[in-house]
Amino acid sequence: MLLEATSVLKKYYGYDSFRKGQAEAIESVIAGENSLVLMPTGGGKSICYQIPGLLAEGTTLVISPLISLMKDQVDSLNSMGIKATFINSSLTQEEVKNRIHAAHNGEFKLIYIAPERFESPQFRSLLQSLNVSIIAVDEAHCISQWGHDFRPSYRTLRLAINELSTKPVIVALTATATNEVIQDICKLLSISDEHIFSTGFKRKNLLFSIEKGVDRTSFITNYVKQHKDKSGIIYASTRKDVESLSNHLQKSGIKVGKYHAGLSDQDRENAQNMFLYDDVHVLVATNAFGMGINKSNVRYVIHYQLPKNIESYYQEAGRAGRDGEESECILCFAPQDIQLQKFLIEQTQLQPDMKKKEYQKLQSMVDYCHTEKCLQDYFIHYFIQDVSDQTCGNCSNCMDEREKVDITKDAQIIFSCIKRMNERFGVTLVAQVLKGSGNKRIKEFGFQQLTTYGLLKNYPEKEITFRIQFLLAEGFLKLSEGQYPTVSLTKRCVPVLRNEEKIFQRSLRQPESVSQINDGLFELLRKVRKEISSIENIPPFVVFSDSTLREMSEICPQNLDDMLEIKGVGEQKLAKYGQRFLDIIVDQIEKHGHQPTKEVVTSVKNMKNEHPSFLETYERYKSGQSLHEIAKGRELKIITIQNHIIQAIEAGKQIDWETEFSIEEEKLILETYDKVGSEKLKPLKDLLPDDIDYFKIKLVLAKQKLGTMTKTLA
Ligand code: ADP
Repeated sequence: MLLEATSVLKKYYGYDSFRKGQAEAIESVIAGENSLVLMPTGGGKSICYQIPGLLAEGTTLVISPLISLMKDQVDSLNSMGIKATFINSSLTQEEVKNRIHAAHNGEFKLIYIAPERFESPQFRSLLQSLNVSIIAVDEAHCISQWGHDFRPSYRTLRLAINELSTKPVIVALTATATNEVIQDICKLLSISDEHIFSTGFKRKNLLFSIEKGVDRTSFITNYVKQHKDKSGIIYASTRKDVESLSNHLQKSGIKVGKYHAGLSDQDRENAQNMFLYDDVHVLVATNAFGMGINKSNVRYVIHYQLPKNIESYYQEAGRAGRDGEESECILCFAPQDIQLQKFLIEQTQLQPDMKKKEYQKLQSMVDYCHTEKCLQDYFIHYFIQDVSDQTCGNCSNCMDEREKVDITKDAQIIFSCIKRMNERFGVTLVAQVLKGSGNKRIKEFGFQQLTTYGLLKNYPEKEITFRIQFLLAEGFLKLSEGQYPTVSLTKRCVPVLRNEEKIFQRSLRQPESVSQINDGLFELLRKVRKEISSIENIPPFVVFSDSTLREMSEICPQNLDDMLEIKGVGEQKLAKYGQRFLDIIVDQIEKHGHQPTKEVVTSVKNMKNEHPSFLETYERYKSGQSLHEIAKGRELKIITIQNHIIQAIEAGKQIDWETEFSIEEEKLILETYDKVGSEKLKPLKDLLPDDIDYFKIKLVLAKQKLGTMTKTLA
């Protein structure tokens, strides 16, 4: 059965192997066991129900609360040649009936349905006519009232499932669930412990970091400018913040979209689509944005303020890097955010015990900002309590090698100044007193008489403010509640004032770029993808994901056979789009001599295909055909044929070197190669006479490589 599943994986999705947890979960569902799949966002949960769905007779119903996502998911499946549709509130009653009727005739393998539908007995009775073999419950944490997105309509699911005469297998899937929620899901959907498949929640490609004590508007502006071609979401807590931050970014020359519940439906939809279709790279939004977003190439998610709890943060930040590419999740923290979140909790109509729970959750969020432990590990401990400590090695705490500066003396001065101001003023005025400012308020209160007045005059006022914010974040100082918070000391100051404890602060961080693209090929492929997306009116990532394009740019397939080896290229997509992407790659190789930086194609192909394409070319070459004759005979481009010969040499096949280049030419190429000192062909070609073409250069270099290898082996 797994063999069949593997061939479906290759045929439709273009992937060679299952990821961790997928095969086990698929086997369990195929074996008819109700199962729970716990995988991080981007971990590949969809395949765990789609492949069993494709292999099973009958129809798979996918229950998903993400209505706006359904169309994309269905488009994506259709583009791979899988028959699927959706039923949600965007359809008329008539359309729903038609789709069910078509499903009855076996036209769809998968149907995506919103949970609310199950509340209608009429709809449930319509379902009776279907041969439902599997029910996939996506975002299964919504079924639990302990989950952060509890949907009461999920509770009617059980009833609907019981009513179905086909007794379908249930597969529940989620990326965020505490132990409490997991137990709830299992109880409600009759899933036993041995059918829980968990790969944990860790997202290795996400680089979590916290920015404390920075001027967040400037930080974000700089960050966005440095990552201007990357897609990113910036979450802010209030509509007002979304408005002011997006205005600021616009004024700084950055094209941004904005999204919050105060905008019209039309404006929100436009903003979402522009972001989805890569027409605008940055979206500033409240948490109203995201539930329905499956954009896979979001390279960063920045939180302008503290979110309300870890569950929300992990879900929002988790919208980065769904395609598995490295992406950043940055949380800008300032202590005053806590007051805002407390205020928002107070505004809710929650019962006292639920309110208390919200406060506890907020505290865990604040602790996340203070911890010096691995940030990924913090999430794991939060979601699954009984696990041992681990480090991810790539979050800001694990990676932080910045020099820590001893700021004890400055901190003592700050504490002392706050004390002398009777702990009755805000951060700005404290900073101004320490700076030695002569402003009216300082004179009014006679603060220029304080012994701490002007003691930090050598620092810019902004830096003094940063220091105070850092001390607040570290818990040495605290802010009062209310509109004009005043800053006061906590008991953590005592050992510092007694010189029993030192305080270190890291120097300010310069954001680094997430990943460098080795050349322009990736960008060109993205452009083609954008063109296709505009013509076909589907989001770019439905055509191919970033990681698929990245792999194309690294491997440089030069024919459709090789292209099929790229992860994410299935037969259907190959037939539809393959040639357009291939043309760009071949063109770039001809123009710039761009070389593959990865050789996955060759190795994979050699393993799987007993008579690979390059061997066919090599045999014809050995039988005396010229390269042009072979190209014509095999209906391949000459450059492909030339590369086959190089591949054959690399695979250990012999050729007669003298027929391809003279000793003088070889010497000249090697001397020039030494001078250029690079593997790049273009600079080499530019320095050589015109009659020495790329193929000759590649042959000479391949010969030299063989020589070096033989020497090393000897
Ligand atoms: P989730 O639902 O867990 O957030 P998805 O199912 O959307 O994740 O998968 C995330 C990405 O990973 C998609 O682009 C998907 O095509 C890709 N993917 C899934 N399984 C595999 C696999 N076995 N090999 C390579 N890529 C995969």
